[in-house]
Amino acid sequence: RAKETGKARAVIHSPSHIGPPQHDISLEAAMFQAVREGEFLLYYQPIVDARTRAIQGFETLMRWKHPTLGMVPPARFIPIAETNGLINLLGAWALKAACVQLKQFEDVARRNLYISVNISPRQFRNDKFLEVLDDALAFSSMRGEQLVLEITEGTLMIDPVHAEAILSKMAERKARIAIDDFGTGYSSLAYLKRFPISVLKIDRTFIRDLPAAQKDGAICNAVLDLAKHLDLSVVAEGVETEEQLHYLAARGCQYIQGYLTGKPMAANVALAALEDSIHANVVPAELRQVHP
Ligand code: C2E
Ligand code: MG
Ligand code: MG
Ligand code: MG
Repeated sequence: RAKETGKARAVIHSPSHIGPPQHDISLEAAMFQAVREGEFLLYYQPIVDARTRAIQGFETLMRWKHPTLGMVPPARFIPIAETNGLINLLGAWALKAACVQLKQFEDVARRNLYISVNISPRQFRNDKFLEVLDDALAFSSMRGEQLVLEITEGTLMIDPVHAEAILSKMAERKARIAIDDFGTGYSSLAYLKRFPISVLKIDRTFIRDLPAAQKDGAICNAVLDLAKHLDLSVVAEGVETEEQLHYLAARGCQYIQGYLTGKPMAANVALAALEDSIHANVVPAELRQVHP
């Protein structure tokens, strides 16, 4: 293993670790075409209450439906868009479209929901970002409280002084900040004190092997405890089993996001799920079927 070879460490990497391979240049060219052709779309994944499983909000996840390649995963195209700057265009579109979509979700659900949108480091640093944010809020006539912006620890740490200024502007608009993939970055916990953060999203890698994995359990417990004392909400990402949900709910985790309670889905499918949830609510509790 590279670790044991000392000096050679830096050069012994599998190709997947040295960034996008050269042939992604054609993928990059295809992306510009895809923007013109409108091949990008948004999926929505429910974020639910861990106890009642009621949908509280949705995370917006971008998809690229290429005519011959099929669905290109964001893990492949977001890094390219981040490099060439296309993320600013795509991200602005996603933010505005998601805010508009939330209104339709709420109309069907007949209650307040929120929408969570991923913001990449480059978007966050872009001079126009606040304009983009204001435009999305104004165009959708959505209240800032209903918007959660997901950023990573890395995004905050690139330029903490700038980050502090932007976050205070977001706070003025009442938009909430979630730390995505919490626990996987390199930053110190001091930033939780420094920045106005509202939500921690526990990374999927800490959830995956629950409840068996003791170290993962210890980390989840520590995050839940930390969040409680700092008055932050917690969303556990990547919950796939009932056992994981029960483990987390029993330890006070309030919100869950994962395949168990809903995969990322097209807007019309999300609308149908919301409609079903209304009908579920009109059935008297004693007649409601308990989960098998
Ligand atoms: P993320 O923001 O951490 O999003 C969560 C990812 O976990 C999504 O992958 C989602 O489909 C996946 N996931 C959710 N529940 C489960 C589960 O139970 N099991 C498993 N195995 N996976 C689950 P996705 O959609 O492929 O997105 C990957 C990443 O791409 C996102 O990670 C985010 O960093 C980025 N991304 C996606 N959409 C956007 C966007 O509109 N803008 C920006 N800047 N980044 C985006
Ligand atoms: Mg996210
Ligand atoms: Mg995440
Ligand atoms: Mg992630």
